[in-house]
Amino acid sequence: MASKTSRSAGKKRRQNLGVILRLVFCPPLGLYLMWTRTKWPRLVKIGASALIAFVIVLILTPMTDPPARQTGGVRVVGSGPQVELLGPEAPTDREDIDIYTPRRTAIIVEATATPEPIIVYCNTGGKYYHAKDCKWVKVTTPSVSLLQAVRAGYTQCPDCDAPDPESIS
Ligand SMILES: [Zn+2]
Repeated sequence: MASKTSRSAGKKRRQNLGVILRLVFCPPLGLYLMWTRTKWPRLVKIGASALIAFVIVLILTPMTDPPARQTGGVRVVGSGPQVELLGPEAPTDREDIDIYTPRRTAIIVEATATPEPIIVYCNTGGKYYHAKDCKWVKVTTPSVSLLQAVRAGYTQCPDCDAPDPESIS
């Protein structure tokens, strides 16, 4: 009875050793055997699987990483007198060739004049906005900006050259 148990234990040990060897040398087969054939604690199986997954990731990561690139707009290949630039050929008669770097980029801001508001004339209670020389414009007619007139509901006068509502910039 005792010997039978010990033989069975020995067989189990050999089987475990085989699974461990396969886990090391052929992880997919080892994992398969470990999960199907052995009666190891679940925690051990999960731990072994995680370890093997981790090792596989470690091996594969350098292969899948994109190659490191220098930041900047120009890739410089080589150094010293034989610097090779990728791009159009630089003129040879220039001795000091400026290599473009984003840090040197200047932001040029041109001052632009603030647009003058277009002034129109609206009679109180009227329907249209007018140009200054319109017959409907009196000395007392209030002047407003075209934008204000349009927002207040006034429309372009058909009798004078009042500015088009589209001309609001
Ligand atoms: Zn008018």
